[in-house]
Order: sequence, then C-alpha cells, then structure tokens
Amino acid sequence: MKEVAIKSYKIPIESPKDLIEAYFEAKKKALEEIMNHVPYSRSGKVHLSLKAEDRKKLRNNLLKDWKYSKHYIDSAINSVIGLVKGWIKLHNRRKAKSKPEITRKTVYIKSTLFTYKNGKLKISIEPNKRYLEVDLTRYDYLPKDFDVIGGLLLTESELIINFKKSVKILKPRDWASFDVNLTNVTALINGRIVRYDLRQLYHVHRVYEEKRRSVQKLSKHKPKTAERLMQKYSRREKNRAKDFTHKLTTKIVRELKELQSGAILENLKNIKDRVLNRSKKLNRKLSKWNARTFQFMLGYKLRWLGLPVKYIDPKNSSKKCPVCSGRLSAYRGRLMKCEKCGFIKDRDIIAVLNLQMWGSGVTPKALLGHLSPMIGKQLIDLRSSMNVYQP
Ligand SMILES: [Zn+2]
Repeated sequence: MKEVAIKSYKIPIESPKDLIEAYFEAKKKALEEIMNHVPYSRSGKVHLSLKAEDRKKLRNNLLKDWKYSKHYIDSAINSVIGLVKGWIKLHNRRKAKSKPEITRKTVYIKSTLFTYKNGKLKISIEPNKRYLEVDLTRYDYLPKDFDVIGGLLLTESELIINFKKSVKILKPRDWASFDVNLTNVTALINGRIVRYDLRQLYHVHRVYEEKRRSVQKLSKHKPKTAERLMQKYSRREKNRAKDFTHKLTTKIVRELKELQSGAILENLKNIKDRVLNRSKKLNRKLSKWNARTFQFMLGYKLRWLGLPVKYIDPKNSSKKCPVCSGRLSAYRGRLMKCEKCGFIKDRDIIAVLNLQMWGSGVTPKALLGHLSPMIGKQLIDLRSSMNVYQP
C-alpha cells in the first residue's frame, strides 16, 4: 500500500509585509463578495451559489491594481471559498457563532509560485521582478528524505513548509497500543507496559491558565493590553506544549522504528462520552488536546517511516475484561475488577490491552484458549517494567 506522507516545518523569515497586507485586503474583499452569493433557504439553511462567471468577475476585480503574481489572487479566492464552505457547514448544523471573518495574516503559496533547487526556495512575489529566496540548507532540522515540497504558508514572521514523500506502508512485525490521559500516556509496546509522564505538560497548561486568569482581571481597565497578553500567553502555552509532545512522540517513534512496530490508537471521534461525565471542564479540554496532539504527531511521524497506524473505536475499552470479556467495575482508585473472573488492573492498562487485542485483529473470545497464558506473562512484565519517562 502506498500513500503520501506529509511533514510540516516552520522556519523564521523576514516576510514581505506589503504582500501580506495586500493579500489580507484581497481576502477581505473576496469574502465580502462571496458572502453575497450565500442565499438563505426558507428553512434558514444556507448554501454557496458562486457561478464560474461570478468567480471570474471577482478575480478580475481583485486583479485591478494588483502588482503581485496573479496566482496569489487565485489562492486568496480559494482559501476564502474554503472558509465560507466551512462556515456554511457549521451554520447549517446551528453551530456557527458568527459570520466568517478573515483574521489571520497568512499567505498560501501554491507550488506554481515557487521553485526548489539545490536546497534553495525561490518564491515569486512580483512576476519576473521580485523574489523571496530562502536557503533551506541553513536549517539542519529540516528533513532531507522527501520527494517534493508541497504548498507553503507565509505568516508575518514564519514560513511553514510542507514536505511530501511517497511511502510504502510496511506490514509491521508488531503492534503497539496507546491510551492518552490527562497526566500520562499508557502504552503496550513489545509486550511491555510503558507509562510516559505528562505531568510536566499538565503543569504548562495550568501555569498559563493562571496567567490568563490574572489577565482577565485587567481586561476591564485595559482591554487592548489584556487582549494582547491573552494572545501572547496562548501562543506560548501552545508552543511549549507542542514542544513537549514533539520530544515525546519522536522518542516513541524511534523505539517503534527499531521494533518495526505499527501503532494502535483510539478513534477520538468516539472518545467524547467516556471523558465527559467524570472530569471537570478544563481537564476535559486538556485531556482532549493531549490526545489529539499526541496522536497527530505520532501518526504522521510513523507514516513518514512507512509504519501503519490503526484507529480503534475505544467504546468499552476500559469496561470490558481483556481476559474473559466480562464486565469490569470500579474497584479501588484507578483499578477495575472483572465481575466474572476476578481480573484486577489499572484502567489505563486495561484500555491498552483491549486496544491491542482488538486492533491486531484477535478478539479475546476467539483467543480465549491461548489468551490467559499470554496475558499472564504480560502481567509479570507489567509489574517489573513500569517505566516513567521524564523528558
Ligand atoms: Zn474477566
């Protein structure tokens, strides 16, 4: 099986401010015009009715006094159409809070607008006249094993580069399973239970939560300063949290590469209810952020190496006994006990045992004969190898 793997990297850059501003204005104008082509039906639903000639007219309009490469206008229109379509979906599900808005000053650069040769990117700003040249060989953290560079995204201070590679997904020698929680990632790798400590990550989130809370008090007297600080703290929090998760997933991926192991993850679409009733609002939000970010990073890093990732419906993964499929009930603290066979284990460990069995294609029922000794052996390992990883 072949697929295209993508890795995105950021590098700092001196952005052409005039292009960023002009593109921002063009997007605003495009949005205003395109929203005139979003009629309401009687039921209150909306849809986009932008004919080819409307688009052409809009394009010609935006190209008046446009000195930059024409492709930028096409990409601006496309990105606004994408934004409007996203909003329409939300609106029709009654989930849109307000009308769509252009807030971010980012420029999408299609592959027709740049060339890549000998490690150097040459981006067209004004046709045959002005270019933005970026020497990628100066950044040793960028990948070298890629096939092509996909689209670029230019912000006011950064260039985001998408590296693409066609990979052959291998048949793995083994499968590892992962359960992401608020303060740890529990994993079953090569028959061993490993726990990665996320308390440091949790701490980052709490620290910035506190900071934002104190800024909120400021917002009455100095709303502008408060807004600016709020954005600054959110950005820093995200950066630090992402940095942590990058280090953690890179470490895990290195281990899985050595073992030629695929990964079994929970399908997060179904995770909502499990977390909902127990945790407080903030913890629930953080838990979800952890799971989403961890899975996203682990997923693309594994695919880049040709290792497969499987998503399993986590429903009942911590309620069903991995030995006999009996019902588990809360026992003591995080421990769960099987009502049928008496098996007792930490709920996160039960989740990864179940995920691994379900994901590697064997149901506990079908394997009942061989299962008990296998689980028994793993349990000894469980006790002897509770690794706690401190990044
Ligand atoms: Zn049981």
